[in-house]
Amino acid sequence: MHCHICNQKTVTFQDEKSGIAYHHCKPCKYIFKDPSCYQPIEVQKARYDLHENDANDAGYRAYFQRFVDFVLPKVGQPQNALDFGCGRSRLLADILKDMNIDTDVYDPIYHPDTQWHTKKYELIVSTEVFEHLHDPKSVFEQLVERLTPGGYLALQTQFHPNDPEVFKRWYYHKDPTHIVFFRPRTFRVLAEMYGCEFLADNGKNMVVLKKRKV
Ligand SMILES: [Zn+2]
Repeated sequence: MHCHICNQKTVTFQDEKSGIAYHHCKPCKYIFKDPSCYQPIEVQKARYDLHENDANDAGYRAYFQRFVDFVLPKVGQPQNALDFGCGRSRLLADILKDMNIDTDVYDPIYHPDTQWHTKKYELIVSTEVFEHLHDPKSVFEQLVERLTPGGYLALQTQFHPNDPEVFKRWYYHKDPTHIVFFRPRTFRVLAEMYGCEFLADNGKNMVVLKKRKV
């Protein structure tokens, strides 16, 4: 199987417990579940409906605040933003709005308004979304297309331990809707492909990229 990001040949390993095969790209460090495991959107929705995203929950708010605290010092004061794949909640968008950033939300299931298809944003954020994507490369490309020149893309997804044995014990891939896994290196490769500069990662689950001006 070739890597869905950089097209190099991958190495396949199997999680003996689940029987699931994973394809591991050494050059860009992308790991993806075998496409036979990808679920139709209705099956995914049933699981997402169980997520309890209560805007009043202090823990949930603190969780987004950590993301905002990492991202905003790197991106200055954008005029507008898009929260891509927000789920049911508008909480992250509300936090950004409180900081005077005019923020749209989009989610294919819960907020399917596609006005973002024709707008440009100075900042696009997407938290705990990329691990669900069948084709993250094309989504990455679409998001970069929606950025203004010099705009920022800030993503949150747990970085995998780049070792098959450690990976098998890792909790994050056990959610059946989590199908693809990244390292900062993967986002560096994507950044290079689509005219972005890799600005920063937090060593755990966050990256910030900047679209080049030319
Ligand atoms: Zn690759």
